[in-house]
Amino acid sequence: MAKLINCECGQVVRGKTDDELVAAASEHVNRDHPELVGKLTRDDILAMAEEEE
Ligand SMILES: [Zn+2]
Repeated sequence: MAKLINCECGQVVRGKTDDELVAAASEHVNRDHPELVGKLTRDDILAMAEEEE
């Protein structure tokens, strides 16, 4: 089941698997939210995810 995260900045991060979603979210945080780098765990990221319809 594909998942997505609606980031607070308005960007939508998608992944086909949990691993892809976590990788995409980490990349987004590195690029756009450097203050959050190292503060979000895999569990935090997955907790924010919604299943894509
Ligand atoms: Zn963002």
